[in-house]
Amino acid sequence: MKKTYLDIPPAHLEYAMRFGATYDSEDRKYFVVGEVPGELYSYVPKEPRYRDYAVEITKQCTHCGCAMELRERRDGTSVYYMCAGCLRRAPV
Ligand SMILES: [Zn+2]
Repeated sequence: MKKTYLDIPPAHLEYAMRFGATYDSEDRKYFVVGEVPGELYSYVPKEPRYRDYAVEITKQCTHCGCAMELRERRDGTSVYYMCAGCLRRAPV
């Protein structure tokens, strides 16, 4: 049987356990065995569906420390980083 780990906020534990959530004292996580009941779907940790390119390559501005955003040049030929704080640019 497949074990599905759940991410349950403490305030929801009683509710979740009523629908079959079990505590794994070794892993210190809650889980259900077999099919996840509909009541517990919202506690299944979400896998990122796609790679978030912009988040993965977050770069910090060397001048002000702000996160830099990846921007595309207006003509679409290349991309560069632009600081959200001081608007300085940096090559990718
Ligand atoms: Zn900056």
